[in-house]
Amino acid sequence: MIKDIQARLSPKEASCENEIVKALSRQYGFETRSVKGVRILKRSIDARQRNVIINLKVRLYINEPCSEPAYTSIEYKDVKDAPQAVIVGAGPAGLFAALRLIEEGIRPVVVERGKNVRDRKKDLAMISREHKVDPDSNYSFGEGGAGAYSDGKLYTRSKKRGSVDRILNILCQNGASTDILADAHPHIGTDKLPSVIENMRNRIIDCGGEVRFETKMTDIIIEDNRVKGIITADGQQIKGPVILATGHSARDVYHLLKDKNIAIEPKGIAVGVRLEHPQHIIDCIQYHNPKGRGEYLPAAEYSFVTQVDGRGVYSFCMCPGGVVVPAASADKQVVVNGMSSSSRGSKWANSGMVVEVRPEDLPQYEEYGELCMMKFQEDMEYQTYINGNSTQAAPAQRMVDFVEKRISRDLPESSYAPGLINSPLHFWMPDFISNRLREGFKTFGRSAKGFLTNEALMIAMETRTSAPVRIPRSPENLQHSIIADLYPCGEGAGFAGGIVSAAIDGERCAEALANILKEKYE
Ligand SMILES: Cc1cc2nc3c(=O)[nH]c(=O)nc-3n(C[C@H](O)[C@H](O)[C@H](O)COP(=O)(O)OP(=O)(O)OC[C@H]3O[C@@H](n4cnc5c(N)ncnc54)[C@H](O)[C@@H]3O)c2cc1C
Repeated sequence: MIKDIQARLSPKEASCENEIVKALSRQYGFETRSVKGVRILKRSIDARQRNVIINLKVRLYINEPCSEPAYTSIEYKDVKDAPQAVIVGAGPAGLFAALRLIEEGIRPVVVERGKNVRDRKKDLAMISREHKVDPDSNYSFGEGGAGAYSDGKLYTRSKKRGSVDRILNILCQNGASTDILADAHPHIGTDKLPSVIENMRNRIIDCGGEVRFETKMTDIIIEDNRVKGIITADGQQIKGPVILATGHSARDVYHLLKDKNIAIEPKGIAVGVRLEHPQHIIDCIQYHNPKGRGEYLPAAEYSFVTQVDGRGVYSFCMCPGGVVVPAASADKQVVVNGMSSSSRGSKWANSGMVVEVRPEDLPQYEEYGELCMMKFQEDMEYQTYINGNSTQAAPAQRMVDFVEKRISRDLPESSYAPGLINSPLHFWMPDFISNRLREGFKTFGRSAKGFLTNEALMIAMETRTSAPVRIPRSPENLQHSIIADLYPCGEGAGFAGGIVSAAIDGERCAEALANILKEKYE
């Protein structure tokens, strides 16, 4: 017999399958020995009350073995001799587009400016140790894209449940834990992501596709408003329709599009700081317990949002038990972001705390036209670099000192490896950002007692929350609004924000491209 049970258990009762079976057998009066298999279908934490509860949907296999597969697998085709398409960028959008093309019987050739996901790791270490940023291999560039050495949070605001489930199942097929199918806030972790990415790459190659690393696209071949292929930095021409999935940090790509008169538009972004608290403080607040999270609960999360003077102020990409990382993609920039391992075991919690900025907020940047928001981003990152002593060290200030416009006497310990420079952020960050952040912090501090504290550290600056440019495309066939056979895709095109939504967009672009290519060949 297969029995599905909705249960509300204590964190200890829900801590592992054995404990769950014991708790349910007490409630439902069956013998634990009769349970031959357990599958957690849904898991979420209800921390609204002092008594924290774990909500579970559990499938029990009673007196029969668990015969259902843990995830849905996809059959991929051999595409060695199939028509070819080019994918620029091996981030989530590019990799998922490649796999989808293979399903559709198209041979993907993926070009990636950065290194493979393992070799990339050495370049990340160099940023922290030697303050050197390789412009083709960093936290944004390289196999897996910005999603590889990230937090690996997989929740999205996307309402397309079917598409989200498909992405999660593909991740499981490539080695991710099936916990991501059950958890309300699924998370992989930066220690586990590289092998999932490698498995995806190997699958693409095994099916007859190609993945070329350290291969930067430097030009797009266009004839009569139709893309014919790309040219790479080493002079290769690769022919085929093009999925452009280059992410939001490829500024050279935006310049290339502008120089070639390929229509692009400025897009609003959000800019602010990384806020780092001791994780224990967040656990005490979120779990309503002065002792913290105890033995059985995970590092607590938070999410805040408010409006100040007509602009959103909100927490972004919160990393419980995480670290703050140097996410610049070139020299003379300081950009911060956050990541965490699968255990979320560090003693810090961090999140982006950002303020919405729209093109109309920056009349002084009008002269930069379509690239005005990108120029603003660049200026902020350069200013942060200068205020960080022209290294990858980041300017930082204690939270209450910032709110009260005071210089911090000292700085607390931090996870940010390249080091911190004590700096009056309230003084040099643009007023339209710092004033709104200040008011936002007061509001968040009122709703969560203890959140506004001088034990928290603001680390400057978080500027890469989304693309500063949109590459317009037809909603029907997803091709560029003017140039045929060019598919602007993922976060860099302004159609996604985060790993899962970039992956979904990659799949959509691949489907649109396959439909058109198949028509041509059939
Ligand atoms: C530190 C960090 C933590 C993050 N944490 C999370 C998280 O927990 N959850 C989440 O949902 N999102 C997270 N994000 C955001 C997420 O990583 C991005 O939204 C996502 O990776 C976007 O996917 P993409 O494929 O559109 O672009 P990207 O991942 O940016 O990939 C673009 C790829 O294109 C390549 N490329 C660029 N230009 C060229 C060129 N000219 N030629 C060849 N290749 C090129 C780049 O090298 C890169 O590999 C994080 C980002 C960072 C930096």
